[in-house]
Amino acid sequence: MTEVDAFLANCRLADGRLIDIGISGGRIAVVGEGAASRSNSAPAQDIGGDLVLPGLVDGHMHLDKTLTGLPWMSHAAGPTRMSRIETDKTILPHLPLSTEERAGNLIRECVARGTTHLRTHVDIDLESGLAKLDGVVAARERYRDRVTVQIVAFPQSGVMRCPGVLDLLDAAVRNGADLVSGIDPLEIDRDPKGQLDGIFGIAERHGVGLDIHLHEPGEMGLFNVQEICARTKAFGLGGKVTISHGFCLGGITESKAAKAAETMADAGVALVTHGAGGLIMPPLRAAGVLVFAGNDDIRDTWSPYGTADLLERAAIIGWKGDFRRDAEVEVAFDLISAAGAQALGIGNYGVTVGAAADLLTIAASCVPEAVAAHPPRKLVFFGGNVVARDGWFRSR
Ligand SMILES: [Zn+2]
Repeated sequence: MTEVDAFLANCRLADGRLIDIGISGGRIAVVGEGAASRSNSAPAQDIGGDLVLPGLVDGHMHLDKTLTGLPWMSHAAGPTRMSRIETDKTILPHLPLSTEERAGNLIRECVARGTTHLRTHVDIDLESGLAKLDGVVAARERYRDRVTVQIVAFPQSGVMRCPGVLDLLDAAVRNGADLVSGIDPLEIDRDPKGQLDGIFGIAERHGVGLDIHLHEPGEMGLFNVQEICARTKAFGLGGKVTISHGFCLGGITESKAAKAAETMADAGVALVTHGAGGLIMPPLRAAGVLVFAGNDDIRDTWSPYGTADLLERAAIIGWKGDFRRDAEVEVAFDLISAAGAQALGIGNYGVTVGAAADLLTIAASCVPEAVAAHPPRKLVFFGGNVVARDGWFRSR
C-alpha cells in the first residue's frame, strides 16, 4: 500500500463517485474507494460527501490595480479606455496602501475562493517604471506557499507612443516577470509592426511567452490577431502566446471569425476571456483554440465589480453565453480549471494520482451545481495544506 501522510475521506468526484484521497509530500498519492479505511496509520479528515475539485486557475487579473482592503472608492475614470489609463496615474500612486499590500489583499481573497494558480498583468510605464512589478513580486514571494503567481509585464499606456517602454519591458522580464504583453498595437500605438516586433523580440531573447491585451474592434482587431499568429509561427512560440479579450472576434462576420479561429488554432495562440461586453464569442474551442478565463478587474480603478470568485465568473460566462445544459456548464468550469492550467503550463493538474494536492471542497453534488450556485468553499488546499476554510483565508 502506498505510504500517505493524510487522507481526505468521503470525497465526491465530478463523476459522482465517493472516494478517499491520500496525500503524500503535497501530492495526491491515492484516489480510491475505501482507501482510508484500509490504512491504519494515516489520519483521515472526513469531507462528508462534498464535491472535491482541483484548485481554480485565474488566467487574467490585475493585482496592481486593485482597491481591495481600502474603504469604498467611487469609480473615478471617464467612459473611455484612455481615461482609465490616465486616471490610474492620478490615483494609484497616492493610495494609503502600497502595491504589495493591495496585491496581497487580493491574493488572500482569491485563495479564500479556491484559486490556487493565477496570472496577473502588471503595469509597466514611464511614470512608474518597475515599481508596480516590484510590489507584485514581493506579494508573490510572501504568499508563495498559498498560490502560484505568473506575472505579465504589461505596457498599459502603450509601447511605441512611449519611447523607453520597450527597454522597461525587457528589464521587467529580467526582474521577475514571466511573460511580456502588448496592447492594441493599432489603436493605442498606431504602429503594429513596431510594437509586435518589439515585444516578440523580448520574448525571443529571454525565452518567455506573451499575453497581449487586444481590445480593438472589428477589422482592426482582426488584423492584429493575424499579425500575432504570424509572429507566433515565425518565432516558434506556439503554445506560449495568449490573446487577452480579443473582442474583435465577436464583432466580425461569421466566416471571418471561423477563419481567425482556424489561424489561431494552427499557430497555437490561446484566448483568455472574462465574458465582458455585448459581444458573443465565436465557437473557438470547436476550432481547436485553447480558451480559458479569468476575473480581470476585481474592485479596482477600472471596475467597481468583481469578487475574485472564479466559480461566479464561470456562472457569468455561462449566463452570458446561454449555457444551460450540464455539458455546457461544464465547459464554463473547464475555462477556470483544466484549460487555464494548460495555458499557464501547470502540469499534472486535477484530482488524480500524481497531481499536486491543490484542491477545494464545496457543498455541491456536481460541477454544474458548483458553478450555478457557487456556495463558499469549505476547504482549500495548496500542496496538501489547508490555506482557506469556510470562505476565509487561513493565516499561518
Ligand atoms: Zn486586463
